[in-house]
Amino acid sequence: MTDHSRSLIMTEAQERAALIDVDRYDIAVDLRGLFEGEVLEATSTITFRCQRPGAGTFVDCVADVRSASLNGVELDASAVVDGRIHLSDLVSENVLVVSSAQSDTGSGAGILRTVDPSDKLVYVWTSFEPDAARRAWACFDQPDLKAPHRFSVSAPETWTVTSNDGPESVVDLTDGGRLWAFPDTPPLSTYVVVVNAGPFHELREERGGHSLGLYCRQSLKEYLERDAADLFAATEAGLAFFGDRFGMPFPQVRYDQVFVPNMGGAMENWGCVTWTDSVLFRSPPTHGQRAMVNSVLLHEMAHMWFGDLVTMRWWDDLWLNEAFASWAATWAAVGATPYTDGWATFLAGLKLTGYQMDMGPASHPIRGNVPDVAQAMANFDAITYVKGQSVLAQLVAYVGEEAFVAGLATYFREHAWGNTALADLMSAIGDAAGRDLGEWTSAWFDRAGTDTLRLTTSAAGGEIHAEGPGGDEPRPHRLDIASYRRAPGGLEPLGVTEVETSGARTTVLGLPDADLHLLNHRDLTFAAVRTDVGSLAHLLAAASKLPDPLSRALAVATAWDMLAKGELTADAFLICVLDVLSVERSAGVVEPFLAMALRAAEQWSDPASVPDRLARLADVAAELAKVPEHRSPALRTLAAAAASAEHFALLDEAARDNLDLAWRVLARRAALDAYDGAAVEALLERDPDPDAGVRALGVTAARPDDNAKEEAWKEAFGTRSIPASLPLQQFATCFWRPVQGELMVRWAHRYLDELEALPIGGMLAMGGLVRNMFPTTGDRAFVERARAMAAAEGTDPTVRTTLLTGADTIARVLRARGQDSP
Ligand SMILES: [Zn+2]
Repeated sequence: MTDHSRSLIMTEAQERAALIDVDRYDIAVDLRGLFEGEVLEATSTITFRCQRPGAGTFVDCVADVRSASLNGVELDASAVVDGRIHLSDLVSENVLVVSSAQSDTGSGAGILRTVDPSDKLVYVWTSFEPDAARRAWACFDQPDLKAPHRFSVSAPETWTVTSNDGPESVVDLTDGGRLWAFPDTPPLSTYVVVVNAGPFHELREERGGHSLGLYCRQSLKEYLERDAADLFAATEAGLAFFGDRFGMPFPQVRYDQVFVPNMGGAMENWGCVTWTDSVLFRSPPTHGQRAMVNSVLLHEMAHMWFGDLVTMRWWDDLWLNEAFASWAATWAAVGATPYTDGWATFLAGLKLTGYQMDMGPASHPIRGNVPDVAQAMANFDAITYVKGQSVLAQLVAYVGEEAFVAGLATYFREHAWGNTALADLMSAIGDAAGRDLGEWTSAWFDRAGTDTLRLTTSAAGGEIHAEGPGGDEPRPHRLDIASYRRAPGGLEPLGVTEVETSGARTTVLGLPDADLHLLNHRDLTFAAVRTDVGSLAHLLAAASKLPDPLSRALAVATAWDMLAKGELTADAFLICVLDVLSVERSAGVVEPFLAMALRAAEQWSDPASVPDRLARLADVAAELAKVPEHRSPALRTLAAAAASAEHFALLDEAARDNLDLAWRVLARRAALDAYDGAAVEALLERDPDPDAGVRALGVTAARPDDNAKEEAWKEAFGTRSIPASLPLQQFATCFWRPVQGELMVRWAHRYLDELEALPIGGMLAMGGLVRNMFPTTGDRAFVERARAMAAAEGTDPTVRTTLLTGADTIARVLRARGQDSP
């Protein structure tokens, strides 16, 4: 029956919100059927008022409805159609009671039951965004019908249950198990409530007036304990920072974070964030991995205010929710945690994915129509998160941080526990700044594509030529230009020029005479920037001499943009980035630079040049591995690029006490057709990681051999046995070896075959498989076929976006390799 559920249409949501107010949800959940079976049972009691007695509406329930009564009258089974229970003859105060059972608890659609492969213990999580709460129990599943939720959860005796707050009581049940009673939540949207359960390992500390909890499955407790000090510290720092800047402390004592198996990403449930437990890295994490965890932690935390406390009225503002949380995470990382190079890390990593998507055919305005909830899911992409975050950063530069933060505090105060739209936020910020942001808002949020800013210089000074996408009017940009003169041993700074552009041409007053003008210094705006012709050669050749990691990241990111647009060869890019890496010491950018260098050498180079370019990268990585702080990421890159006997000797030595590296080295050897089955078996014996089998499968997947690829492929697309997130990413990296040429092109086509037949599961899990397994290589026919599939009627929006963006990248790669034009 679940296949026939209808997606809520915006106008239906508006009508329902105008008709009813939900007073409260009392939800009894029985998880005992999940201990050995697959059924989650729930009885949802909804107390709500109706504005127009006599009118009708519907409640959402995409589960097997066992009974339903409205105001004491049993509803007929025929009232249940397409995941909705029709309610008629409402009175002014109503009580609806629905008992239901959900047996689809294995696909990750809102609920996932997992059996840990190492100890057979069972864990259950829920994650409801955007509209999966209706799969667990009956509810009015739309963001603007907020209400207190009260959960009472029956669970097996050995399980711990976590929900939005701590339990009021836990008592034994006469018919087995224990009953966990939770207090009323504040008024919450249906998509941010949560119930997780299992024999969790729990750590708890009192910090800064809050009770902070961390949970994970038993088999991962050593990793949680290893990382707990960092997690507690970041949580305490984040709550203090946001509470202060937002003018409102987090209003609940308890703040829990639950690391769960086989989940993609993390989810901002009020007071109880769920995370993929693949972030509890089985090998000591690198700086980049710790920075990512810190960033996700702060992102979900920012949602407590922006998303949970104040919630978008409809999913068309979902982008704002995500963009804001992403911006706030980087802002807080730099302002309150050790990750002070956060903006450079963002530019060299994530921001490039925003530019990449925005230059391709899947680009869309940041703000768009979302006619039904199914469309909301299509907008979880790099435009939403990354470009959105970048444009908010530009807004901060445009109005000033002080006004921005003052506007936010007003916004949270005035709309606490309510629902808003973009205009509410923009008017609060505009009022604080004394600027009308109407035109700015539509210029930045309602149009797709990236502006290009070109600097020209003459004896008279400088001028910025701005060009909107497709020849459109450009947006206004607030940006800085840093100027440098070449000096013995480096670059001498000559000062920073502040600019606010308007229209196609803006004169830059006071620009000094210089050898190098760094356009978009401090990375304030979102634009493709091309500095003047005189500066360009210095920008590429002297990027390593720029004084700070953000400036070096800007130079490398500009070079990458030129590579993607056919203005620079992969070799020229590689020379630039390897030069920077030979001196780079900021942990915040070393890893993204290494990743870009690897892509340029392996994916963007013509196959004949790949071995030589990988060898050059491997040499740089081997040198960098001598710096203790960079040793771990440098060795990982070396393991991806190793070419010589010296490289392998270095790796074999380092891999002796590093299981993660040992897997990488085996995969590299396998990719070079030196698969060692006995070594794989021996490493499986040694590695206690419950996901070690996936690493072994990755080694198989790396082999330049059709049968091996087939064996690995079945686990990804057939049984779908590869856990989401990091294990899947590692697997995909092993599988797609661009240097394996024609063999890979055949598998790229196989990927498209699979997509045509893919069942649709939970948003995060499915999106992960489709995105992560996208080929890194292909041919012209692949590009055309992917585009045709994207254009076909009925293609899932998430799949469509992935196909369009991925095919665009492959087309650019083929051009860079000299194999084709895009
Ligand atoms: Zn988010």
